[in-house]
Amino acid sequence: MTAEAPLEETPAARISARIEARRDRFIALADAVWDHPETRFEEHVSSRLLADALEAEGFHVERGVAGMETAFVASIGSGAPVIALLGEFDALTGLSQRGGASAHEPLEPGGNGHGCGHNLLGTAALAAAVAARDDLRSRGRLEGAGTLRFYGCPGEEGGSGKTFMVREGLFDDVDAALTWHPMTFTGLFSTPTLANIQAYFRFHGTAAHAANSPHLGRSALDAVELMNVGANYLREHVPDQARLHYAMTDSGGASPNVVQSSAEVLYLVRAPTMSETEEIYARLQDVARGAALMTGTSVEVTFDKACSSYLPNRTLEALMFEQMQALGAPAFDEGDQRYARTIADTIIWCAPPP
Ligand SMILES: [Zn+2]
Repeated sequence: MTAEAPLEETPAARISARIEARRDRFIALADAVWDHPETRFEEHVSSRLLADALEAEGFHVERGVAGMETAFVASIGSGAPVIALLGEFDALTGLSQRGGASAHEPLEPGGNGHGCGHNLLGTAALAAAVAARDDLRSRGRLEGAGTLRFYGCPGEEGGSGKTFMVREGLFDDVDAALTWHPMTFTGLFSTPTLANIQAYFRFHGTAAHAANSPHLGRSALDAVELMNVGANYLREHVPDQARLHYAMTDSGGASPNVVQSSAEVLYLVRAPTMSETEEIYARLQDVARGAALMTGTSVEVTFDKACSSYLPNRTLEALMFEQMQALGAPAFDEGDQRYARTIADTIIWCAPPP
């Protein structure tokens, strides 16, 4: 991208110019996070890189907040309003990839990798925090006139780290919180998201030789399968926008001649509101109890995490839209276009190969 900022003295243009002036530093930080892909709640290096950078910038950093080693809050200034910028930095399993490669080139087979730009997520929010701090300070709007906070939020990919931070009251005095995500367009994310609940269902049965004494066995794997059948029938009777996903996290073993005594399935329930999500989750637990009853096993439900639906804030959106319009979309140079074409070539399959 080009380093030009519009000449207009809008807040967005001032912030953008400050970020551009230090672009190499921020790009190096994003690359360092890319080089250390760590999954939810294990982001020790990534979290430290961002927290150290903020500390070096003079922010007061509190690490290990809300009982999570990789969660932190960095703050500067004092008084109201309290403005929060949210930064995430976790990776996904199995997405190891050489930086800049447009084809699948894992650095480590089966290793972790950043799937949707989470190396940029935390770093860009950090860049915004540092630039906003400089801008506010230069106009005497910090120290007694406002507090700027960066929230280092772990476990964004299926961990809902922020909900634990909310529960601990870390957002109680925040007036506005801003977040972002890499996307295929420059704009506002102004639609609500689905609320969700994730829970493990572990079934306990009785092991037996599957040929010799099957009548003595009670299969936990059968219970998982029957629960999935029940959940798939449940789908018809939930609101259209609701979603049910599951992953078999433990099939009980790799031997078909053993009646599996323990097996587990992980469910993710989504619906437009939290009350609808809770209702479906309650019915899903009934399905699990039914599967246990059918198979003579028992089920243990372990609640993993939940997340409320995202509620758009039209007032903040209007303000942000004004600034985004003044700033314009990023200008892509020929090198950017060339690189984008190499990626497009890997995903366009409309025509048969020559
Ligand atoms: Zn993402």
